[in-house]
Amino acid sequence: MPTIFSRIVSGEIPADIVHQDELVTAFRDVSPAAPTHILIVPNQEISGVDALEDSQAQVAGRMILVARDLARQEGVAAGGYRLIINCGPDGGQEVMHLHMHLVGGRPLGPMLSRG
Ligand code: AMP
Repeated sequence: MPTIFSRIVSGEIPADIVHQDELVTAFRDVSPAAPTHILIVPNQEISGVDALEDSQAQVAGRMILVARDLARQEGVAAGGYRLIINCGPDGGQEVMHLHMHLVGGRPLGPMLSRG
């Protein structure tokens, strides 16, 4: 079964896609936590950071560079933003397709609650 993000990458289900190249796709999060909330995903299905292989360094690097460019495009680069990759159950990962959140557009507060 393809992940929901694979189905977005292939165009099977709609999303607000803001970038797509041969390695990654970026689209707006359906439930945004900040004025800018974009997900950057590899086109190829990789379940998460723990499943990344050394040979996939190019796609991992591309995710960060695309996030940098999108942050500039969104006008949040100067004010600052946060890149988040949740991994596994304790990390709060809900969709088992590697994705990086780009969030910004308001002060984001401390990185983690200490509860
Ligand atoms: P995570 O908790 O890191 O796995 O984040 C999953 C994110 O995917 C959440 O922020 C969801 O709001 C987002 N999401 C789930 N389904 C969709 C979708 N169809 N289109 C856009 N974002 C989605």
